[in-house]
Amino acid sequence: MQKSDVLQRITTLTRELNEHNYKYYVLAQPSISDFDFDKKLAELASLEEAYPEFLDPDSPTQKVGGDITKQFKTVRHKWPMLSLSNTYSEEELREFDERVRKVLGDHFEYVCELKFDGLSISLTYENGLLTRAVTRGDGSQGDEVTANVRTIKSVPNRLKNDGYPALFEIRGEVFMHQAAFERLNRERQENGEIPYANPRNFAAGTIKLQDSAEVARRPLDCFLYFLYMDGRDRAFKTHWDSLNAVKSWGFHVCEHTKLCHTLAEVFQFIAYWENERYRLTYDIDGIVIKVNSYAQQDELGFTAKSPRWAIAYKYKAEEVETILKSVSYQVGRTGAVTPVANLEPVQLSGTTVKRATLHNANEITRLDLHELDTVSVEKGGEIIPKIIGVNMEKRVPETSKIQYPTHCPACGTLLIRKAGEAVHYCPNELGCPPQIVGKIQHFISRKAMDIEGMGNETVEVLYKKGLIKQISDLYSLKEHKDRLEQLERFGEKSIQNMLHGIEKSKEKPFPKVLFGLGIRYVGETIARKLANSFKTIDALIHATCEEIAAVEEIGERIASSVTEYFSKEIHLQQIAVLKSVALQFSIVEEDRVLSSDKLANKTFIISGVFENHSREELTQLIVANGGKMLSSISNKLNYLVAGDKMGPSKLTKAQKLNIPIISEADLIKMLA
Ligand code: AMP
Ligand code: ZN
Repeated sequence: MQKSDVLQRITTLTRELNEHNYKYYVLAQPSISDFDFDKKLAELASLEEAYPEFLDPDSPTQKVGGDITKQFKTVRHKWPMLSLSNTYSEEELREFDERVRKVLGDHFEYVCELKFDGLSISLTYENGLLTRAVTRGDGSQGDEVTANVRTIKSVPNRLKNDGYPALFEIRGEVFMHQAAFERLNRERQENGEIPYANPRNFAAGTIKLQDSAEVARRPLDCFLYFLYMDGRDRAFKTHWDSLNAVKSWGFHVCEHTKLCHTLAEVFQFIAYWENERYRLTYDIDGIVIKVNSYAQQDELGFTAKSPRWAIAYKYKAEEVETILKSVSYQVGRTGAVTPVANLEPVQLSGTTVKRATLHNANEITRLDLHELDTVSVEKGGEIIPKIIGVNMEKRVPETSKIQYPTHCPACGTLLIRKAGEAVHYCPNELGCPPQIVGKIQHFISRKAMDIEGMGNETVEVLYKKGLIKQISDLYSLKEHKDRLEQLERFGEKSIQNMLHGIEKSKEKPFPKVLFGLGIRYVGETIARKLANSFKTIDALIHATCEEIAAVEEIGERIASSVTEYFSKEIHLQQIAVLKSVALQFSIVEEDRVLSSDKLANKTFIISGVFENHSREELTQLIVANGGKMLSSISNKLNYLVAGDKMGPSKLTKAQKLNIPIISEADLIKMLA
C-alpha cells in the first residue's frame, strides 16, 4: 500500500469504528457484529503500528488506556459541583413544588431524570476534544482522572457534528452495568480479592486506579445530565434543549428522560420507575426533578448547598421478611470459608431470592441469628441480597443460636483467623477437597493456563478417582492412559484432546503460570506485574516483602501473601516439579548487555505501557548504557520510546518535532 492509501485507510477505519462505538455504547443499536468490529480494530491497530506517524489521538485503539497516574492532580471546579436536596416522601415533594410555584407562578415545566447510582464527573471539552475529567471531590475541588475517563467507551474523546461551543463543561454520572459488576466481582472473589459491595463502589474504585489499562478492562459507562458554559442562557433556553443538543454532539444521554408539565405527571414518572427500575441494566436510587427553563432556574437560585430548582426523590430500598432455613458454609480455593443463608424463597425487587450472603462470622454475631429466625432481607444497591435484621417478635422459642463452625465443613480441620481479618480460613490446603479441586480448576481456567479439552467437571472426576491431587499431577496424567480409559464418559478422542491441551499449556508464558498458581490476592494483572518486574520465579521467590511492595500498585497485603506462599516448602516442591516438566518460569527476552556506553550522548523519553519491561526497568537500562532521560519533549530529545498505548499528546508533539519514535524491541536492539 502507498503511504497516502494507508492514511486514507486509517482515516476511514477510525471514522467507521468510532461510529460503531457510538452506535453500540451510546445508542445501544449496534449495526456490525463483534467479530467484524474486532477484525477492523485489529487492522487499524496494525496499520497504526506500522505507521505511527498517522496515529490519530482520537483513534478507537486509544480507548484501551495505558497512561499511568502516580498521583491525581487536584483541580478546582469552575462551577462548584453541588449536591441535590433529597426526599423519600411524596409530601415533601409537594412542598418543593409549592415553593417553586410561589416564585414562578404556574407556568413552568419539570424535566424528570433517573438518578443514576454512580459517581459524578465533570468533563471539559475544548474545540470538540475531551481535555479534562475531574471527580466531584468535595464539590469545590476534585481529582483529575482524565486518562481513566478516556477509556470509557461511551465518552467521546472527540465530538460528532458541529455546533458545539468552543469551550464547555458537561457533568454526568460514571457507573458500571450490573452484568459487568457481577462478572468482575466473581473474578475478584476467585482470586481471593475482596469483592466490591455494589456497582457504585466498583465504579468509584475503578475511576481512581493508577493504571488506565486496568480501567479499560473494567467496562464503565457514563450518562451526561448537566451542561455548563459561559453564555449558556443565550445558546439554550432550557435544560431539555441542552440535553438534546449534547445528545447530537455524541454524548450518552439517558433515553428515559421526560418533560413533565404537571406535578401529577412527575408522580406518574416516579411510580412507573419504582417497579421498572429492576429491569434496567444499571442501578438507580431515585428520580431527579429539575425545573426546565434556565431563566426560571436563575430566578430560584441556590441555597448554600444545593439548587432550589431541583430535588431528588429517592426510592426506599425494598425489604421483605422471610424465614432462615439454614446456613451453609462454602470453602473457596484459597480456603476462605463464607457463610451463606438459605432462605424460604421470597419475591424481592423483581426476583426470587433464595440465598443471602452473611459475609463472615462477625455478621452472624452482629445479627444474633437463630435457627428458623424471621429475617428482613434487603436488595438495595447490592446485587446479592443481604440480611439486615431479625424480627425478634417472631423468634421461635428454644431455637439455638447459629454457631459459626470451628472446623472446616469440608475436611474437619480447625479453622484459623488472622489478626485483623474477618474471614476464617481452612489451613488444610493440601487435604481439603474443595481447595484442591478449586486450585486445579483455577489453574486450567481460560485466564490462566487455558487448557483445552478439560473442564471443571473433569477436574472433579479426576480428583475423585485419585488421578490428580495437585497441579503437577496434570502433567503425569499421560502415564495413566489405561486408567483414564476406564473412566465413564471418557472417549478415546476426549482423552487425546485433554492430554494434547495439557501438553500445549507448557508454552503458556510465565505471567499466566504465575497467575495459575493461585496465590491469594494475585489476580491476572498483579501476576503480570510481578512477572515483568522480577523476570524469573527464582527472583520472586527470593524477593523480600519490601522489594515486592515496591512494584507499582502492589501493596503490603499482596506482598506478604506472596512471601508467605513461597515460604512454604510444599509450594517450592510443587514449583520444582512444574519446572522439571518445562513450564515457563521466566520472561523470555532477547539477550542484552547490562551496561555499556552504547547510548552515550543519546536522550530518551519513555511513554506508555510495555510488554516485557516496566518503565523503571527501561529507565535503568537506558541509564546503565550511558543514555540520559529527559522529562519533556523538546528538540533536544533523540528518541521517544513508545509503549503500547502512550499518551496521544506526547505522540503528536514528538511527531511535530520529527523525533524518532521507537519501540521497546527497538531499544533492546540498540543495546544488543
Ligand atoms: P446526593 O449524592 O444524594 O446528594 O445526590 C446528588 C448526586 O446525584 C449528584 O451529585 C449526582 O452525582 C447524582 N445524580 C445521579 N443522577 C443524576 C441526574 N440525572 N441529575 C443530577 N444528578 C444526578
Ligand atoms: Zn478444609
